[in-house]
Amino acid sequence: MKMLHFAHALLPDGWADDVRIAVDERGWIGGVERGAAKAGCEAHDGIAVPGLPNLHSHAFQRGMAGLAERRGSGEDNFWGWRQVMYRFLARLDPDDVAAIAAQAYVEMVESGFTAVTEFHYLHHAPDGGRYADLAEMAVAIARAAAESGIGLTHLPVFYRFCGFGGGAPEPGQRRFVSEPDEFARIVAASRHALRDVADAVVGIAPHSIRAVTRDTLADVVADAGAAPIHIHIAEQRREVEECLAWSGRRSVDWLLDEVPVDGRWCLVHATHVSPGEVARIAASGAVAGLCPITEANLGDGIYPLPPFLAQGGRFGIGSDSNVRIDAAEELRLLEYGQRLRDETRNVTEAAQGRSTGRSLYDRALAGGTPATGRAVGALAPGRRCDIVLLDPDHPALVGRGGDHWLDGWIFAGDGRLVRSVWIGGRAVVTEGRHVARERVGRRFAATMRRLLAA
Ligand SMILES: [Zn+2]
Repeated sequence: MKMLHFAHALLPDGWADDVRIAVDERGWIGGVERGAAKAGCEAHDGIAVPGLPNLHSHAFQRGMAGLAERRGSGEDNFWGWRQVMYRFLARLDPDDVAAIAAQAYVEMVESGFTAVTEFHYLHHAPDGGRYADLAEMAVAIARAAAESGIGLTHLPVFYRFCGFGGGAPEPGQRRFVSEPDEFARIVAASRHALRDVADAVVGIAPHSIRAVTRDTLADVVADAGAAPIHIHIAEQRREVEECLAWSGRRSVDWLLDEVPVDGRWCLVHATHVSPGEVARIAASGAVAGLCPITEANLGDGIYPLPPFLAQGGRFGIGSDSNVRIDAAEELRLLEYGQRLRDETRNVTEAAQGRSTGRSLYDRALAGGTPATGRAVGALAPGRRCDIVLLDPDHPALVGRGGDHWLDGWIFAGDGRLVRSVWIGGRAVVTEGRHVARERVGRRFAATMRRLLAA
């Protein structure tokens, strides 16, 4: 067993000093002791917190970050951005995806994310032809995860239709589209592809209500077992309006009426929800998958967090389009969106005198963890040893303690505040740099020069 010792650590029951964490040979936490001596340990003078799970990523979109920031003709919105995204992904081969995903994952890890949930819909060749291995693109994601060390929950996406009620897919969607029986083979092949990625989980993701019908949705959900099920929902007002016109019901109401949604589910975005839908999501046990940076970038809207939390709702955060990758910034922007809308401060934490940073972090761990289907999210025996070490001498943290460390990181910090990261007990970031950053960065640069010159 490896022994790590930290001057300070956030444990499930609060902050503790002189914490010794035993890591077993599989990279899981075997034991946690507070007030422990450093003897026989690898000792670190810093602030150890559980690594944050990222519950929603499309890794390849890191390669188009910043390329859709020019005013389009007429109304410029999510649907115009989607056309830019379709043009970009039409060029990517499996090696390109592996190179871009590795860069995205290295950046995630350096910012404090130790697990990622990859919502993976790029299954087929550019012309829609099938790769010999249906999981060819999942292999690319697995390679990137292994190289970065990030914990992986892989969600093959079921995408069959375009528009509510089963419209024919557009040419730009041909890399995503499968019938349910082929989708089952993609899931099986993905499990095989990920067999060597430590503790990886394979779930499923019906893309959105727009991309399925009631029958095909029921079909793929029936085979999910205990694994996570994620779906994009109610991200855009237009989507909710179209769902209403088609079915007479709002998107979340339709989903909750038609399939048994429970704690396995993550409703990604769920931005445009009625008070009744907020209550129904909270009661279902599903996690709301909030992606504040991407939702801001795409002009989606702001999630109604206060009533959701008041009814016991769970949320986690995702980096989605990866236009920027920063764990603390996602939490900051989540809170700031609420403040801007409500013209008030400290919205996430309702109890007087309690820390907003701590509340954001605790909630993102508690919601993000079930959404990954993995034993992460706490420094406790039986969990994976995923640790982020904050620099106690950083200007945003120096002289502070306890929850003020999290408030300092989230509201006043920058990207240099994460000093070290362990994932599955292995040190993947030291002195603020990922151990594979140079190699991954060189390959990403070569890939992007070629793609953008074409
Ligand atoms: Zn998404």
